[in-house]
Amino acid sequence: MQGITILGSTGSIGVSTLDVIARHPGQYTIYALTAHSRVEELAAQCQQFRPRVAVVGSAEAAKRLSALLREQGSNTEVAYGEQSLCAVASAAECDAVMAAIVGAAGLAPTLAAAKAGKKVMLANKEALVMSGQLFMDAIADNGATLLPIDSEHNAIFQCLPQDYRRVPIQHGVAKILLTASGGPFLKRPVDTLEAVTPEEAVAHPNWVMGRKISVDSATMMNKGLEVIEAHWLFGASASQIEVVIHPQSMIHSMVSYVDGSVLAQLGNPDMRTPIAHALAFPERIASGVGPVDLVKVGQLHFFAPDFGRFPCLKLAYHALEQGGSAPAVLNAANEVAVEAFLTRRIGFRVIDQLIARVMDAMPSCEIPNIGSLLEQDRRAREIAHSLI
Ligand code: NAD
Ligand code: MG
Repeated sequence: MQGITILGSTGSIGVSTLDVIARHPGQYTIYALTAHSRVEELAAQCQQFRPRVAVVGSAEAAKRLSALLREQGSNTEVAYGEQSLCAVASAAECDAVMAAIVGAAGLAPTLAAAKAGKKVMLANKEALVMSGQLFMDAIADNGATLLPIDSEHNAIFQCLPQDYRRVPIQHGVAKILLTASGGPFLKRPVDTLEAVTPEEAVAHPNWVMGRKISVDSATMMNKGLEVIEAHWLFGASASQIEVVIHPQSMIHSMVSYVDGSVLAQLGNPDMRTPIAHALAFPERIASGVGPVDLVKVGQLHFFAPDFGRFPCLKLAYHALEQGGSAPAVLNAANEVAVEAFLTRRIGFRVIDQLIARVMDAMPSCEIPNIGSLLEQDRRAREIAHSLI
C-alpha cells in the first residue's frame, strides 16, 4: 500500500486524484488531505477516505473541521497552517505527495516533500517556476522522485527515454513541442480583449480547472509558466522549447528527435490520465478516462502562437532567458494581477502590463537560497499591489 498525502485535495486536481484512488481500493491509503478554507468538502472527503491527518488554513477553519469530524465519529487528526502542511508532506507514513496547491502557497510543503525524499507528483507548477534550481537540487540531493502531473509535461515525460537525464542532446532530443489549446480567446478580436470578464476568462473550451489556472490559460501565462517548468524538468533551453497551438487538446505535447522522429502522447483532455500515470509509475492503472476516438475527432490543427495577442507568453520566455530571480518575479506579479482581475480591480489587458512593469522594476538577481527567493517574491508582490 502506498501512503499518499494530497496537498490541495478539494481543488480540481485533488478531486481528480481521489477519483483515481477510489478506483483502486487496497492499493493506496490516504495519509493526509489538505484544504485552505473549503471545510465542508474536506470533511466529506475525510468521511470517505479516512485520512490520518487533515490540514486546513487557519485555527478557525480547524475548529469548524474538528466539529464536523466529531459529528461523523471520525478519528482523523486536525491541524492547520504551513508547518502542518510541511509535516504531512514529509511524514514517515507518507510515500508519495500530490502537490496540488495553487500558487506560491504550495512551495514550502512541496519542497518539504522533496527534502524528505518522497515521490513528488507535481501539479503545482508555480512552486517549480519560483524555486527552479533550488527545487531540482532538493530532489536530487535527497533521492526524491519527481513525476510531472501537468498534462504537457507528463506527455513529454512519456515521450522521453526512461533513462533521460536532463541533457537533451545526449539523448538525441532536438526540441520539445509544448502544445497549447490557446484558451477561450484564441479567435476573439484583440481589440475586444480589454472588455473580457472573469466569467468569460474562466470558461475554458477543453478543460475544467481552478480559477487561477483558467485565467492563466486565457492569457497564455499558463503556457509561459509551462515553458519554464519544461526547462527545469527536462534541462531544455528556451530555444529548445517551442509552443504549438493545437485547439483540440488531444496531443498533450511532443518530443522531436534529431533523426526526424516526433513522438507524441495523445489522450482525452482529462487530468485523471496523467494522475493515474504518476500514481502507478512505472506500472499502468485504469483512470476512468476512455481512449481517444480518432475517427470522431477527425482533424487535428496546429499553428504558431501570436505574441501580440498573448504578451504573457513572451514575458515568460523573457524571464526564462534572464534567469535568476526573473521567473519568481514573473510568477509573483502574475499571481497578484490574476487575483486583482478576478476581483474586478483591473481589466484583462492590464494583467500583462502589470507584470511587465514589475519585471522592469526588479532586474534579475541571483537566488542562492530560499530566504532570498521569498524576499524577491515578497517585493514583487508589494510592487504589483502598489501599481493596482
Ligand atoms: P484549485 O483552485 O481547484 O485548487 C487549489 C487547492 O489548493 C484547493 O484544494 C485549495 O484549498 C488549496 N489552496 C488554495 N490556496 C491555498 C493556500 N493559501 N494554502 C493552502 N492551500 C491552498 O486549483 P487546481 O486547478 O486544482 O490547480 C492546482 C495546481 O495544479 C495549480 O498549480 C495548477 O497550475 C496546477 N494544474 C492544474 C491543472 C488542472 O487541470 N486543474 C492542470 C495542470 C496543472
Ligand atoms: Mg498544462
